[in-house]
Amino acid sequence: MKLLFFGPPGAGKGTQAKMVAEKFNIPHISTGDMLRNSVKNKTEIGLKVAEILERGDLVSDDIMNALVKETLAELDSFILDGYPRTLPQAEFLEEALKSMNKNIDKAVLIDVSEEEVVKRISSRRVCPECGKVYNIISLKPIKDNICDVDGHELVQRTDDKEEVVRDRYQVYLKNTEPVIEFYKKNNKVVTIDGAMDVPDVTKELFNILGNLSL
Ligand SMILES: [Zn+2]
Repeated sequence: MKLLFFGPPGAGKGTQAKMVAEKFNIPHISTGDMLRNSVKNKTEIGLKVAEILERGDLVSDDIMNALVKETLAELDSFILDGYPRTLPQAEFLEEALKSMNKNIDKAVLIDVSEEEVVKRISSRRVCPECGKVYNIISLKPIKDNICDVDGHELVQRTDDKEEVVRDRYQVYLKNTEPVIEFYKKNNKVVTIDGAMDVPDVTKELFNILGNLSL
């Protein structure tokens, strides 16, 4: 099975991809893992990546594309998580797979609205002392805004603030919507309602993918 996973920040895409990978015994490939592995294995691309990361620069599309191609060449099944992020990357992936006589089976979209994502993420609080994460809606501390473990006052991370979450959601939409449209044209997209509880999303994914008989 060759799968892509898409979803906005806060959709639980990585968690779900891992569950599916375990259930169907497919390698779960994230862009972060690919970068780390290439550096660790000192591949030709890995040496370049190491240099770029040491300088603190971002890895270019060209290098990411080359890395994806190199990684997928060795795999007959995979879940690709975090790539393609843009339409040019999707077009590259299509060509690269074609040259290997491979094809994406499904692009899984875990769909969550902006309002739901804002509600989920902006309700997170964290203890600056021990790092324990709370949620003022779904995982409240015993005493309002106080860490259960050490009594420190909880804070909201900058990344979790509403305006930051909305910005990230808009960036996601702008980049990913054309990618989703690209796969919709090929009837590859499976949309899951990511507003459901995590176990229900997993159950539905298992059902749908289990019935594909790939
Ligand atoms: Zn604490």
